[in-house]
Amino acid sequence: TMACLTAMDAGDGLNAYVHKTPDMALEMAQAADVRIKAGDAPAMCGIPLGIKDLFCTKGVASQAASRILEGFKPEYESTVTTQLFSSGAVMLGKLNMDEFAMGSSNETSCYGNAINPWKVDDRKLTPGGSSGGSAAAVAADLCLAATGTDTGGSIRQPAAFTGIVGIKPTYGRVSRWGVVAFASSLDQAGPMTKSVRDAAIMLEAMSGHDPKDSTSADLPVPDFEAALTGDIRGKKIGIPREYRMDGMSAEIAKLWADGTAMLKDAGAEIVDISLPHTKYALPAYYVIAPAEASSNLARYDGVRYGHRAKLGPGDGITEMYEKTRAEGFGHEVQRRIMIGTYVLSAGFYDAYYNRARRVRALIKQDFDQAFASGIDAILTPATPSAAFGLGEMASADPIEMYLNDVFTVTVNLAGLPGISVPVGQDTKGLPLALQLIGKPWDEAGLLNHAYVLE
Ligand code: GLN
Repeated sequence: TMACLTAMDAGDGLNAYVHKTPDMALEMAQAADVRIKAGDAPAMCGIPLGIKDLFCTKGVASQAASRILEGFKPEYESTVTTQLFSSGAVMLGKLNMDEFAMGSSNETSCYGNAINPWKVDDRKLTPGGSSGGSAAAVAADLCLAATGTDTGGSIRQPAAFTGIVGIKPTYGRVSRWGVVAFASSLDQAGPMTKSVRDAAIMLEAMSGHDPKDSTSADLPVPDFEAALTGDIRGKKIGIPREYRMDGMSAEIAKLWADGTAMLKDAGAEIVDISLPHTKYALPAYYVIAPAEASSNLARYDGVRYGHRAKLGPGDGITEMYEKTRAEGFGHEVQRRIMIGTYVLSAGFYDAYYNRARRVRALIKQDFDQAFASGIDAILTPATPSAAFGLGEMASADPIEMYLNDVFTVTVNLAGLPGISVPVGQDTKGLPLALQLIGKPWDEAGLLNHAYVLE
């Protein structure tokens, strides 16, 4: 904890932490010390963590990197952080992210973007998003591990861009209670760590049934660390042909081939598979996620939480809502609210939202069929490229940014577990990663396959 606190101050240039809690960290570390000396040390005891700003932490600013939550200090602790802290973990502070987790570069944060500790010729690179602060902090040793959340790739893509491990568990494995909602049918929290073993240990501490989240699954949590045997002999790995997108770079194609060879050398059987509805995933995601977001974000009205605009004479409640939301939400969040409201409106509901839901069911069916045919895990690239330069994608066309999520959103739409593992480097020496997609509730198997790739 002491080493991380020093590193955090030295690493201020990365803008990874938006709120540091050193006093709390020292108190928690001392309490962990007592437990360790008493021989009562759970797995996470004394481990210093950074917490994504999307998690509500009791008495500590929790703003989802949005101006609209300015001054919000929750009265309660999220289930995930409660579980981590009761297992002895120490909180170092809150980590930067895209506003309300909407983005792939951390550039929509009200705190300004976090910066990737990896660089090429002094060019500043994005750590990815939305869990960009988490990724930067873990990669730069400003914490031992961090929490992330993933609605369409926000754990896996930043993990890939910074050379760390990130797992999005099966939908329902980890409680969403106390995590600021973006798109509730897609959101899952997960660990971002330096190794697969760390991911296994931390995921176990985060998982489990929570009666406060009606979508949380009442299933036992396996010993994920014990699953890391490295033995994948006879396992069937699916290589989906639809992920071989037009224009895939030679580097990514080679990385994917190398990863496939590693799994084959370890005794797995490699099988070509088809997931025919893949190409509709991105458009379906960018209808469903904004639709749910527009509904979830309706609660930020200037009355219940955080920021309220200054009102002029004659301003009524409507002006209060309008001014507060216009000032409080950034551009990307406003764009999503508008898209979401549009696709849910009476005249367009069937044409957009219902159609996207049908596409989602077909995408899930593709995966179900692959797993029913005996496939144990699916291997794909995690991202279409290595980390890009800050400002490079935040151009006039938001679609360019959305394309970053092409390999990751299918997993959220189908509710499956997915893990990003650093496997190689591009020609400039930047980290590249592969993604493994697992069967529902098979995080144990998924972690073990990732362990072989690591
Ligand atoms: N980049 C995607 C988006 O902007 C995914 C974000 C996430 O997973 N939270 O919606």
